[in-house]
Amino acid sequence: YQSSITRECSLPAETIDGYRVNVYANIEIFEEVAAVLDVGGEGVGLYRTEYAFMDRATIPDEAAMTTEYSELAALLAPRRVTYRTLDLGADKLSRQFGKLDEPNPALGLRAVRFTLKHPELFRQQVRAICRASQHGNVAIMFPLISGVNEIDQCKEVVRDVQRELAAAGIPHDPEMPIGIMVELPCAAFIADVLAQEVDFFSIGTNDLIQYSLGIDRINKHVSYLYQPLHPAIVRSIKYVVDSGHQAGIEVSVCGELASDPYCVPILLGMQVDNISITPHAIPGIKRVIRQTTMQDCKNLLREVLKARTVAETNQLVRDSVFKRF
Ligand code: PEP
Ligand code: MG
Repeated sequence: YQSSITRECSLPAETIDGYRVNVYANIEIFEEVAAVLDVGGEGVGLYRTEYAFMDRATIPDEAAMTTEYSELAALLAPRRVTYRTLDLGADKLSRQFGKLDEPNPALGLRAVRFTLKHPELFRQQVRAICRASQHGNVAIMFPLISGVNEIDQCKEVVRDVQRELAAAGIPHDPEMPIGIMVELPCAAFIADVLAQEVDFFSIGTNDLIQYSLGIDRINKHVSYLYQPLHPAIVRSIKYVVDSGHQAGIEVSVCGELASDPYCVPILLGMQVDNISITPHAIPGIKRVIRQTTMQDCKNLLREVLKARTVAETNQLVRDSVFKRF
């Protein structure tokens, strides 16, 4: 019994009619690498590096980050590991930087806004990621990007660090892919523009839903309105995927939505390249993918895009599951 589960975990996430999608893991601490391998994760699509900075008496310095990121890259090679730079702020607080006096933290100095305000810290982390890139298949990704200007600033830091490493003879991968999280509605609206600037997109649906629907993702009083299949969300994701593909770049989805077996067929219908989800959800989602066809997913998506309400979408999804079994 155990061995048949293990065998199934190692099978690719491929639909009955041969469409393949990579299923990566979202992790928060290094130790999760064992779980990633156990469940058949095909890499790490999102390493939430900020967790090592949250509620800790001491935070990692550049040397510690370099060691950890390098070890992870080496352990998982040739599988891809995507390091997201610090996404501190809002609900992810660090004692080290003190509590910011912000009336609306989710709309405040978080993620890439925070790191651009702390250039030395940002540079240290970027240097650690660049140095890790020589040990495996490493990509770097920036959270909460709102426009071209922030991308330019982030890319400039990467290029500057790479020049410095090259000058010092320190090995690194100069071709390391540079991507962004698309998780703000403004970024989704101009996805066609942003796609020209980066090597990949990763859609962060947790924040995209929060900011598109105006629902605080951790506020229980409005959680009933946090609706992943709201027509506005489905259309946003579709537009981002299509824009990325038109520009010839890969598009992943790394929010919780991608670990929901009812949502995955819709994402497949859009032909996303990768999904990245919490490790324990990987076997079940791989199984959902292996039991469906791209044709069914495309048919479902076509109907879902016509839906006027979440209730209509939910009904379509339920019908399609019913038809399948
Ligand atoms: C997201 O916003 O969907 C995401 C994956 O990032 P986080 O949950 O860490 O904000
Ligand atoms: Mg996010």
